[in-house]
Amino acid sequence: MSESELPADDLLSRLRRFHSDYFPLHQQRFQDLVAQGQHPKTLFIGCSDSRVVPYLLTGAGPGELFIVRNVGAFIPPHDGSHGLHGTMAAIEFAVLNLRVERIIVCGHSHCGAIRAAYEGAPQEAVALHAWLKLASEALLPVQPGPEALRRTEQRAVVLQLERLMGYPMVRRQVEAGALSLHGWHYVIEDGEIHVFDALQGGFLPASVASNSGTGPYQPYVEHDGQVIA
Ligand SMILES: [Zn+2]
Repeated sequence: MSESELPADDLLSRLRRFHSDYFPLHQQRFQDLVAQGQHPKTLFIGCSDSRVVPYLLTGAGPGELFIVRNVGAFIPPHDGSHGLHGTMAAIEFAVLNLRVERIIVCGHSHCGAIRAAYEGAPQEAVALHAWLKLASEALLPVQPGPEALRRTEQRAVVLQLERLMGYPMVRRQVEAGALSLHGWHYVIEDGEIHVFDALQGGFLPASVASNSGTGPYQPYVEHDGQVIA
């Protein structure tokens, strides 16, 4: 075992600390959530990257976020196939059963999935190969340097928002004004989310943005005029 891996007994002591230190202070909240059930208003679809921490970023507590995380924060097309699509199932559940009012798609800087979409994945990773194709329309025809990778990460977020609009229950709720879609790009080293604002024509740092995303999808035009269709 390398030194960077968490020894099993350390993990156990963390579990005990949660139970003995954290839980007693928040016991009522957890018990209310059991008695009344969960009613999260937000579906958060984020990359699995360990540096993306949804609760810290949003200040949310237990019961507030319904979370799906996968490699790249990608969304498969709602094609009616009978494959085992955990992400698709979670979106359907969140919209149809939980009636969430917001869906956030959160990509981030230095995303390994976006890099791998350019550079490829190990031969043996057959599922990963297929999965990374969900970003292929966002790739730029260039050697991926830092700037191109950042743009691709943002383009991938917009692409996933478009795919969300291909989910009949999502489109229906968005068009009814009951659901808003938010595209976020988290810049880890700055500690700042950049929110997608179609009206402004791109991503804006949350510190200067007037909203947390433009809600219902509108066509995305990049600064150079390129439209992701
Ligand atoms: Zn990532």
